Amino acid sequence: MKNISKEDYLSVIYKSADSNGEIKANQIAEKMNISPAAVTDMLRKLSKEGYVNYKRYKGTKLTKSGEEYARNMVRRHRIWELFLHQIVGLPWDKVHDEAHNLEHSASDELINRMEEMLDFPEYDPHGDPIPDKNGKLPEGNIGIPLSAVKPGHKVKVNRVHDFDSSFLQYISKIGIKLNKEITVIETLEFDNSLLVDIDNKETSISSKVAANIFVSEVK
Ligand SMILES: [Zn+2]
Repeated sequence: MKNISKEDYLSVIYKSADSNGEIKANQIAEKMNISPAAVTDMLRKLSKEGYVNYKRYKGTKLTKSGEEYARNMVRRHRIWELFLHQIVGLPWDKVHDEAHNLEHSASDELINRMEEMLDFPEYDPHGDPIPDKNGKLPEGNIGIPLSAVKPGHKVKVNRVHDFDSSFLQYISKIGIKLNKEITVIETLEFDNSLLVDIDNKETSISSKVAANIFVSEVK
């Protein structure tokens, strides 16, 4: 059984809640790869501590203090990731796990110094926005999944899912990185896979891989 902290729950709720800020317990369980019962236990605890509004069978929502807490954890995580990538030189598929271990222990002062050293960055190595000291996020396009792009359209990568290193290694291998331009040539009805053009090379991408790459249209 992996040791999952309160912070991890709050971060997942913060990152995965819908546009109303709500998320269901079974979605949290799926995201974290743990049992719904374990999630329910933790949500009760977090609710008692004032971090979430939890009602059985209903969506869970962060309270104001829960949101502040989660936003700060996400900020720490993303600054660490960028620091490890830019300064230490770790590849983008290695920084998530390292940052996860470091984000809990660093002082606010250290995080602020790292942010300054990185020249107040807006995005982490995977294209995720970094909240500033006051919790403000950069205004930018969060993008749509590549799997939703119609044939004939040219798009640019602005964000990729960061939690699975084999996924990141795979997309690196086929030439995908942030800001890379991709043209969708064809979608295959049989399995929803995509035939795309990357650097004038045709590549087939599964629907699951495409669903984890976020893009915006290139005009
Ligand atoms: Zn990241």
